Amino acid sequence: MAKPEFDIVVIGGGAGGLVVAAGGAALGAKVAVVEKHKLGGDCLWYGCVPSKTLLKSAHIAHRMRHADRWALAPAHPQPDLAKVMERVAGVIKGIEPNDSPERFRGLGVDVIMGSGAFVTPDAFEVNGRRLTAKTFVIATGSRPAVPKLPGIDTTPYLTNETLFDLREPVPSLLIIGAGPIGSEMAQAFRRLGSEVTVVDIAPQILPREDADLAAVVFKALEAEGIRYHLRASVLAFAGRKGDVRVTLRTADGTPTELAGSHLLLAAGRTANVDGLGLDVAGVALDKGRIVANGGLRTTNPNIYVIGDAAGGYQFTHLAEHHAGIVLRHALFRMRWAKPSPVVPWCTFTDPELARVGLSETEAIARGVAHRVYRFAFDEIDRARAEGETEGFAKIVTSPKGKLLGAAIVGPHAGELIAEYVLALSKGMNAKDLTGAIHTYPTLAQINRRVADQRLKEGLTPASKTWIQRIFGLQGARG
Ligand SMILES: Cc1cc2nc3c(=O)[nH]c(=O)nc-3n(C[C@H](O)[C@H](O)[C@H](O)COP(=O)(O)OP(=O)(O)OC[C@H]3O[C@@H](n4cnc5c(N)ncnc54)[C@H](O)[C@@H]3O)c2cc1C
Repeated sequence: MAKPEFDIVVIGGGAGGLVVAAGGAALGAKVAVVEKHKLGGDCLWYGCVPSKTLLKSAHIAHRMRHADRWALAPAHPQPDLAKVMERVAGVIKGIEPNDSPERFRGLGVDVIMGSGAFVTPDAFEVNGRRLTAKTFVIATGSRPAVPKLPGIDTTPYLTNETLFDLREPVPSLLIIGAGPIGSEMAQAFRRLGSEVTVVDIAPQILPREDADLAAVVFKALEAEGIRYHLRASVLAFAGRKGDVRVTLRTADGTPTELAGSHLLLAAGRTANVDGLGLDVAGVALDKGRIVANGGLRTTNPNIYVIGDAAGGYQFTHLAEHHAGIVLRHALFRMRWAKPSPVVPWCTFTDPELARVGLSETEAIARGVAHRVYRFAFDEIDRARAEGETEGFAKIVTSPKGKLLGAAIVGPHAGELIAEYVLALSKGMNAKDLTGAIHTYPTLAQINRRVADQRLKEGLTPASKTWIQRIFGLQGARG
């Protein structure tokens, strides 16, 4: 058989695909990346970057209105959405050169714009060009799921792919979905002046999170005036530009009609696996998800799947992590390399909610013997100084104190969780966190203080008596 033209061909030039391409080229591989739209993927154009940039303006507007919390005179900005969205576009523009075709061509990567399909198990055809490679990587990402409900084809709606193009005012926004994207955008638009109503079939917002953690975010969002219909199923859509209607059945079974100027669909994501000729390539699908082993290898041993297209957790950092695993397989034949099971994430509402590892709900559902410890931000001096005392940290440990999971809801939770990512990755115990010096006064003290709870629990009256006896202590005055 003729030698393949490339070492690696990546299909999809987003968060995961570009890391494979840059890493492969840096390590001396001959790499091509096929991209059908724009290099950079969802994260840069329609996901993480625009959403977090929008949230920043929203959070500043909120703080200005509530400046009296910090003993300053409140101001009442009237946000101009067009200007805020121009800032979003500017931030994307600033990052874009890192992901540009020019940069990647400069790294020695063959960048091919277009979409194609496998024509044999070891050849992918695009723009009439047949690409052969030792390894193919499917990194085609995901797209917003659009519910097939009456009226959807005639009702104007937004998704994350069109939301950041808005330049007109949004007086009232209806959001379907109270997951991370729906919750972040609900708060962003509310703080930027829109009336916001959120509908979800789940009984709570952020349904993947423990109820006590999600409740802290819910309380904050509701207090800001966001209206919720939870346990509510959408029945139909109707309307025209500027006047959209959503019919739903509420928790008590009452049919209700909601009206808004705009409608945002944020109710799940679908992996982009259509039209790639996967059947020709011998890549099996199961319920729309590419079948892959623990090492991200599909049923065609020369084809891997990474990132959102793999159908598991959908995060930029996970797509990038997958990329590293596939490079180990493709270039160094390290077939034993597997993605880390320790996957953190954060919902960037205010307060933020971040998690890594096992939740309390999962521990109960799986019958895992566990203990739970909590510590509140209002007992952290820095949180008081900052005027940000809402929320708490929570850890789940084994009965012997081995860390199984951690979650933080509160200020900078997304940054604070990093310590627990490392602790869980290294199989640490709560006492390892307790023994590490944490700078005072930082919010990070909450990471130690929550772990201290485990130590304090071990201090039973019986153990205290033993300590007194062994070390000749006299006990506190009673
Ligand atoms: C609103 C929103 C906010 C988000 N916020 C965060 C966040 O804060 N943190 C976080 O970690 N994650 C966040 N995510 C998720 C994150 O964007 C994705 O997990 C990440 O982009 C996945 O990377 P990927 O490489 O799998 O796919 P992508 O980065 O989407 O790249 C896929 C690429 O493949 C291309 N493509 C698709 N089909 C084909 C084809 N047939 N041929 C060629 N090319 C193709 C696409 O055009 C795209 O460029 C957010 C997502 C959304 C929607």
